[in-house]
Amino acid sequence: MNKVSKKVVVGNLKMNGSLDFNEKHFNQIKIALKDVNTIDIGICVSYPYLFQAQMIFQDSNISWGSQNVAKDEKGPFTGEVSVAMLTDFNSKYAIVGHSERSTAYCESDENIATKFSIVKSKSMTPLLCVGETLIEREAGIMERVVANQIETIRKKYGTNVFKNSIIAYEPIWAIGSDLAASPEQADHMCNFIRNLIHEDKNNSIDDLKIIYGGSVNSKNALQLCGLESVDGALIGRGSLNAEEFIKICQIVNSL
Ligand code: PEP
Repeated sequence: MNKVSKKVVVGNLKMNGSLDFNEKHFNQIKIALKDVNTIDIGICVSYPYLFQAQMIFQDSNISWGSQNVAKDEKGPFTGEVSVAMLTDFNSKYAIVGHSERSTAYCESDENIATKFSIVKSKSMTPLLCVGETLIEREAGIMERVVANQIETIRKKYGTNVFKNSIIAYEPIWAIGSDLAASPEQADHMCNFIRNLIHEDKNNSIDDLKIIYGGSVNSKNALQLCGLESVDGALIGRGSLNAEEFIKICQIVNSL
């Protein structure tokens, strides 16, 4: 089974930030992490700040991206932002299927699959979020839930679509909760996802990173990201505090 070359840490700023805040925040992160070169680092911002992220990070080792994308290429879709618009700002990453969107905006697995493939079509890196609710975990069906989310994409686009992408295992109960998954739980589910993708022996999937997200901080980053099965982390709250985000990146870089 192919192992990825570099771990990755991606910050998801969610609906936070302002021109003033970002100016300080992005520059602080950029300067502190300028010599960190054994991991990939990304920051996913709200659409209006893509240009600012591009201006600040373009000459750095930090990439930027969005937290969503439209499933259609263009047309009468008021309020949507197309993948071509994201590439206008040299965005590298687009988060698709974050649970805060699938829950609050009723995003279906079908739509998420279309978004995943549209991001790939522009050679950007989709960061697909999958994970179960607490009720699903307590019912012991987390594997089935995650497999369904992934299989919806595979049925439509084949296994190859997962090349050069990121899947974040984000148990919904761990997001924003201060209750990160245990290393055993994260290890089990990341291995489960890896085996699921690689069970298709007709396709070799290069550089698919399988990362963990949900209450990662500088105290648990070593345990979680140090696992061989975990190729990095998606960071929500921890990416809003520059010092904390920098510490997490330095920890993962030291692995
Ligand atoms: C997230 O929302 O993707 C996330 C991981 O959030 P937090 O780190 O705040 O739990």
